[in-house]
Amino acid sequence: MTVLTLKQLTQSLAGKTVLVREDFNVPLDVTGAITDDTRIQEGMETIQYLVAQQAKVVILCHFGRPKGQVVDSMRLAPVAQRLSELLGQAVLYSPNSLENYEAFVASVQPGQVALVENTRFLPGEEKNDPELAKRFATGIDVFVNDAFGAAHRAHASTEGVAHSVPVAVAGFLMAREIEALTPLVPGMGQGPKQPFTAIIGGSKVSTKITVLENLLNTVQHLIIGGGMTHTFNLALGGQVGNSLVEKEHVPTALRLLEQAKAKGVAVHLTSDVVMAQRIAADAETKLGDSKTIPDGWEGLDAGPETLKAWEAVIAQSNTILWNGPVGVFEVAPFAAGTRRIAELLAQATQRGATTVLGGGDTVAAIGQFGMNPNAFTHVSTGGGASLEFLEGQVLPGIAALNPAPTLVAAG
Ligand code: ADP
Ligand code: MG
Repeated sequence: MTVLTLKQLTQSLAGKTVLVREDFNVPLDVTGAITDDTRIQEGMETIQYLVAQQAKVVILCHFGRPKGQVVDSMRLAPVAQRLSELLGQAVLYSPNSLENYEAFVASVQPGQVALVENTRFLPGEEKNDPELAKRFATGIDVFVNDAFGAAHRAHASTEGVAHSVPVAVAGFLMAREIEALTPLVPGMGQGPKQPFTAIIGGSKVSTKITVLENLLNTVQHLIIGGGMTHTFNLALGGQVGNSLVEKEHVPTALRLLEQAKAKGVAVHLTSDVVMAQRIAADAETKLGDSKTIPDGWEGLDAGPETLKAWEAVIAQSNTILWNGPVGVFEVAPFAAGTRRIAELLAQATQRGATTVLGGGDTVAAIGQFGMNPNAFTHVSTGGGASLEFLEGQVLPGIAALNPAPTLVAAG
């Protein structure tokens, strides 16, 4: 860990005003009710720790994309409500807390928790306005960044504020994310325990080129599933029918395959697929070769032969990174492949392999299958943030924190 963590802070926090950046950007249904509170639960360890220390806890958080304006449907009232239920104590919340920020912060008592209104209501937030960052820092003794999912954005409440406070540290969730993901970053420390396999799925090659390219430096096996497998099969001269492809990325796919070969990385694409003429729960489906998909049909999930081959690779791996569903898991006839990968990774975890999952839709798939995140070594709360971290990029929200204390050798 290269940054100072909340756990490492030696000063007493009793009576201190601690500003916490959380990522409580939870999904709401049409009535405004929270449909999944995982993100709030993930932040609880930090909040509870601070309450137990009798700190005055002030939380900053963004919600949705209001683009610098007040949007009533994006107010944080439902988040404050759920947070107070989980904490078992009242949470201070006021819709005017951005306008009256200084007074709002000053009103918080030791052991109390206050949630400031959606930071993205202010135009300075996404612009990382230094004046706003300074305002957020008013009266603050310690800043704790626990919002890993927002750490790839240099915003006033994630990056700027960290430079304006006396001390800025990583919260428990942030620390867990850094600790779990760092060994998988090429060139960091000892690196992952080999054999290391990455399973990359999802819809498009274009969103994951850099991560694919970087992974080639550390993995022995690269499994490519989901929509992006078709761009690779097309590049290899296959017939992909109406499957999702990015024709402009055929050269990228060829380049990646060449690089893999040069580096001795085995690439595993789909060999058979579940195909259909439309993406619907009642669509007619059939199995077929990935390289001879007829016109009018599209490959929407990995077939049984493919899954068998991938299973053999997973079974001999000691570290497995999974990002991106291998099929259109949201629609029942195309969910089996993604479910199988999840089961295989849970089994791998049982036998002692390190399994790390990331990506918004990948995590949603696990939830849809009713699987417990504890079945895996680490499930990252970051989508874009975890990808950028794995690409080896320094995330601005992390870079702005105080460095870890250097160990002085005794004697
Ligand atoms: P993540 O959020 O986990 O990083 P992505 O956003 O890259 O994943 O991709 C997820 C989407 O990819 C899902 O909505 C899924 O339906 C889609 N997908 C997976 N396989 C296919 C496929 N064969 N054809 C079209 N879309 C696919
Ligand atoms: Mg996604």
